[in-house]
Amino acid sequence: MRQLLLRPGAEELNYEIRGIVKKARQIESLGFPITWENIGDPIQKSNQVPSWMKEIISDLLKENKTYGYADSKGMPETRAFLADLTNQQGGVKLSADDILFFNGLGDAIAKLYQFLIPTARIIGPSPAYSTHSSAEAAHANTAPITYKLDPDNQWLPDMDDLYMKVKYNPSIVGILIINPDNPTGMVYPKVVLEGFVKIAEEFNLLLIADEIYQNITYNGVRAVALAEVIGDRPAISLKGISKEFPWPGARCGWMEFYNREASKEFSKLCQTLENAKMIEVCSTILPQLAIPKIMSHPEYKAYREKANEAIGKRSDWMAEILGEIPGIKFNPTQGAFYNTIVFEEGVLKSDQFLEIEDARVKTLVEAWVADEQMPLDKRFVYYLLGSERICVVPISSFCSDLRGFRVT
Ligand code: PLP
Repeated sequence: MRQLLLRPGAEELNYEIRGIVKKARQIESLGFPITWENIGDPIQKSNQVPSWMKEIISDLLKENKTYGYADSKGMPETRAFLADLTNQQGGVKLSADDILFFNGLGDAIAKLYQFLIPTARIIGPSPAYSTHSSAEAAHANTAPITYKLDPDNQWLPDMDDLYMKVKYNPSIVGILIINPDNPTGMVYPKVVLEGFVKIAEEFNLLLIADEIYQNITYNGVRAVALAEVIGDRPAISLKGISKEFPWPGARCGWMEFYNREASKEFSKLCQTLENAKMIEVCSTILPQLAIPKIMSHPEYKAYREKANEAIGKRSDWMAEILGEIPGIKFNPTQGAFYNTIVFEEGVLKSDQFLEIEDARVKTLVEAWVADEQMPLDKRFVYYLLGSERICVVPISSFCSDLRGFRVT
């Protein structure tokens, strides 16, 4: 066989949120049930899809059009519906043509970075939802460039850190914001979003906001949308239904292009992404048909409010429990359904962390942690899995130098 060489950067693709599942399954196969706290799948967490939503979907299955291809960009009526929703937030004026559907937001993220030249860098948060950091690192074939989210300041972005990095690194062409944030559960105040727009303006950068959790906030917090503050700057908002309906199995997400005519280069990027969808033909059609019907259903708003209230209660409960544990840092969450727990300096030691009674599990875990270079939080997480059968993800796998873990 001729040499099957991978593109430089291909090895940067890494997704520990699922990588750890393989290990947990090994323990499960020995007869130990696992508590899954690694993945943000509301269905796996036993959230119920309401019956009126299921009826909408099953009625659609009876219609012939559900079985055809969609327009490459997505169903025009659905795109018009979503454009209108965003327009109602104020700030931008979208048309259906400014929206592009993908097979899940993960698919959109993977494509987003692909077409930039490797030296065109998107600076993203640290910690960050690892699909972004790993796709960006793969495109650039080097480590991600990041700005700090500060655990000592409610996980808000360190804007001075961001400013200095952008100022002194001319290869940065865009800024990624995740709001509400995965993995910290934080929601950015309007003034912070305005700060991002100001930096983008000064250095002429593209803003990208992953807003998949935009409608999942609680305890009186509302997520200000990028659309509300972006003005006439070029930007992309990333949205989806995986968490909100919730319907992660639909594999359906979309990009909203703000001010696509504001710059020739941005307009070309939008066109390239559309061309990529043409090659792929189209995205999943069933969820696209369902979106306007579900979102305009008379029960949708109340359903979402109730779901958010339940997450808020869990968040309060978690904060209460965590508050009693010494040696950790955390912030009560405001949105999405994750929290990041960071160990204080010196708490993690490089020895064995927890007792593992079962000899077979112990052998497995000891083999997993044999690599001495392994970050200490990852070792801890493997011990936690072996000892308590709780599956969480180390924060070092979220593009971070901090040591801790994310829990769902
Ligand atoms: N963006 C963020 C911030 C997420 O947390 C997730 C999923 O966890 C995604 C994107 C991917 O969503 P999808 O299921 O639409 O691929």
